[in-house]
Amino acid sequence: MNFMNQPAANPPSIEGLNDLYLADEQTLVRELIAAADPGDAARKKIGETAAQLVSAVRRNRVQEGGMEAFLQQYDLSSEEGVLLMCIAEALLRIPDADTADRLIADKVTSARWKDHIGVSDSLFVNASTWGLMLTGQLLSLDEAAVRNPVQALGKLASRAGEPVVRTAMRQAMRIMGHQFVMGRTIDEALARAGKKGNRDYRYSYDMLGEAALTGADAERYFGAYRDAITRIGKAAAGADIFASPSISVKLSALHPRYSFTQYDRVMRELVPRVAELAAHARESGIAMTIDAEESERLEISLQVFEGVYRDNALRDYEGLGLAVQTYQRRARSVLSFLTGLADDVGRRIPVRLVKGAYWDTEIKHAQELGLESYPVFTRKAHTDVSYLACARQALAAGSAIYPQFATHNAHTLASVLHYAGSRQDYEFQRLHGMGEELYAEVTDRDKFARPCRVYAPVGSHEDLLPYLVRRLLENGANTSFVNRIVDESIDVRDIVADPIAVSGEKDGLPHPAIVPPAELFGSERRNSAGINLPDGAVTAGLLSAMRAAIDAPRTAYPIVG
Ligand code: FAD
Repeated sequence: MNFMNQPAANPPSIEGLNDLYLADEQTLVRELIAAADPGDAARKKIGETAAQLVSAVRRNRVQEGGMEAFLQQYDLSSEEGVLLMCIAEALLRIPDADTADRLIADKVTSARWKDHIGVSDSLFVNASTWGLMLTGQLLSLDEAAVRNPVQALGKLASRAGEPVVRTAMRQAMRIMGHQFVMGRTIDEALARAGKKGNRDYRYSYDMLGEAALTGADAERYFGAYRDAITRIGKAAAGADIFASPSISVKLSALHPRYSFTQYDRVMRELVPRVAELAAHARESGIAMTIDAEESERLEISLQVFEGVYRDNALRDYEGLGLAVQTYQRRARSVLSFLTGLADDVGRRIPVRLVKGAYWDTEIKHAQELGLESYPVFTRKAHTDVSYLACARQALAAGSAIYPQFATHNAHTLASVLHYAGSRQDYEFQRLHGMGEELYAEVTDRDKFARPCRVYAPVGSHEDLLPYLVRRLLENGANTSFVNRIVDESIDVRDIVADPIAVSGEKDGLPHPAIVPPAELFGSERRNSAGINLPDGAVTAGLLSAMRAAIDAPRTAYPIVG
């Protein structure tokens, strides 16, 4: 931590934004329920529409199943699901082949991949399972050979098989890659988007890869984004900015020290970089959306966004937007801030409303820090209600916000359709490889006729792994909509349960199993309390107390008489 060396004179905090950082969940949820509730009659209609959508999805489900089938097959309640995630994530971080082989030996043999063969109708799931089982069997053979030296042949085969194991794992990843990634290069992705069946969708391209760790990484990502913008712009061929294809950008990829405690440096170095990309997107006639990342980056992300948005070179550009996560307790304050900003500048802001992809990390991080509470909700239904309240707020912002609703949940989607009524100035969004059947209904000109944009990751299968792990974590959970919709044993009525009613039944109380971070160790001991440095108000208080302590006159004397 370097903030003493690089102090911001007064780390700015966006007025009022952090009041709800760790707000009391029950009080907040009660308010959100009131804000989201469209009345009994409307809720009944929404439930009916959602049920129709779910039935249609189940009826039309393509047998190849895709990501949903895979996620259901390897959900995180199965040992194999967890193992798959561990291996995928760990393989990415292992630079040498030997260690990779040892990890595979340790993990793959312990799973029962065979149980999954033939369970799913999905070709995709079976292909992946075969790849995994193949490797599992090779290693089992190795173990057997070690126990019985007579089986020398088997031992030899297993030795020869170690690199094969790695190859097979990577092959399985490649199969998944094709499913989840639009193309290995932007040209490949653009070509795929132009194919029949895909042409009905709008696209937002995401250059896969995670946070930049060095200046060189950031340079590389910047180049990749700039190049992608040029190519997407050519494909856009002058379409309306809201209808044209767009690019999604991660700020963490563009600066190696992108954090609130590096405020001065981030504003000095990152704002011009993002502004340059935005100006290029403007010239290329496409929109640019800034992805939402961890909650500790929310405040700085808004400051960077404001810095870029107010740039004079972008004054007529309505394509610069950002994602807002509704699992964060501050979600509605973020929307108020953006509405105020758009009103002040007089230009519309496209806002992609998402629930949020880092829930597990957020919970763990708050526990590590020993915070007073969590920055996110502890019940899924609370996040859903927050989404509905935010959807209404975004629509009510009128010409300040162009709402983009990113969800695969039929109830959330049906609610938005109802709230929006006859309005046409909004779109839905889904992830590539997910929600195809649901959106086939929604985009159908004879049914709902609403536009949908596909978030389309671009990159090689090595870059895919962290993305896949996030999708697995998020959607592998048994509360996840995509996980439940493909499970025929769950009744349609349960799948489209109204989150307003579900949250109301528990009166907005937090989940009892997710105790406040301070109480993590129960009666054993109190968790050590941390300081929430990304909260500008907290940091400002801390810095002024430190300055006062430094400035206070000091007296030194021996403590031994
Ligand atoms: P649902 O199954 O209805 O919701 C699942 C979500 O509920 C989880 O992701 C989590 O947010 C929440 N949840 C689950 N369990 C709990 C719990 N116990 N307590 C509280 N909340 C819980 N995510 C980002 O973070 N940043 C982005 O920039 C981003 N961009 C996206 C772009 C597009 C086009 C799409 C479709 C998604 C994007 N996402 C992004 C991912 C998005 O956050 C998830 O896809 C979304 O949360 C899944 O919501 P759902 O409505 O489809 O599914």
